Amino acid sequence: MFTSISGRSVLVTGGTKGIGRGIAAGFAAEGARVVITGRDRDTGERAAGELTAAAQRAGSGGQVGFEPGDVSDPASCAAVTQAAQDRHGGLDVVCCNAGIFPAASLEDMTPGQLDEVLGINLKGTFFIVQAALPALKRSGHGRVIVTSSITGPLTGFAGWSHYGASKAGQLGFIRSAALELARSGITINAVLPGNIATEGLDELGPDYLRSMEAAIPLGHLGSIGDIASAALFFASDEAGYITGQTLVVDGGQTIPESLEAMG
Ligand code: NAP
Repeated sequence: MFTSISGRSVLVTGGTKGIGRGIAAGFAAEGARVVITGRDRDTGERAAGELTAAAQRAGSGGQVGFEPGDVSDPASCAAVTQAAQDRHGGLDVVCCNAGIFPAASLEDMTPGQLDEVLGINLKGTFFIVQAALPALKRSGHGRVIVTSSITGPLTGFAGWSHYGASKAGQLGFIRSAALELARSGITINAVLPGNIATEGLDELGPDYLRSMEAAIPLGHLGSIGDIASAALFFASDEAGYITGQTLVVDGGQTIPESLEAMG
């Protein structure tokens, strides 16, 4: 479908689980050479092995390797982006997906909790893009795809003010970054997922998942493949004239004014 993806060198942060793993699988299925990163080595190595085996079974020519890394640490971001270049001779696409969503009420939130969420979700996006920039410039078709959220940019949720601020901050970042990167032919866009079935979302519990399903016009949570498709589109040659933009992938969740409005 996306013929321009085959052979591209792709880095997916937080690619060891959930949405990031789905994005990595989507790129590998289109023949890309992917590096996934995350903090937990065992999970990462297992994911890379399974994703490479799936790409081999499909005969796509895609492959997936793991490099341990923490996006909140600029030195780690430099090491991971260098490792991706060493493995694949360059870097064409960076998916800034690593993120955490612990709940904390505004009343109880500690400075440490706020720093952790902003440090990974927002500053981590800056650090990875900064580290990848020289390689993306050399690529000639550099692409950055950020996993933001509906929470923050479009909606709110009690207990997630720090998370919402981090996800809205990512959009402020991409709009100015788009202008700086455009000079080098690099595009940067964001996908805004609604509620997507992942390991991270499972941790919020069955009551949360049930109430979310009831609020989604299409009647079910999204899949990691739904987000991968949007990321692949932004990475393709066909999307080369799109930059600084957002794409909501939420089953219609942000459309109704109330539950009654769903009919
Ligand atoms: P998940 O299942 O918990 O996976 C998170 C991934 O990020 C893991 O690979 C994790 O690996 C990695 N990660 C976390 N902190 C990291 C760090 N400091 N450095 C490097 N990697 C790190 O989460 P998910 O549901 O797939 O969410 C992924 C992204 O989508 C997040 O940015 C989230 O905000 C966004 N999102 C998710 C949903 C949803 O419904 N699931 C909706 C909207 C937006 P380690 O823990 O081993 O580091």
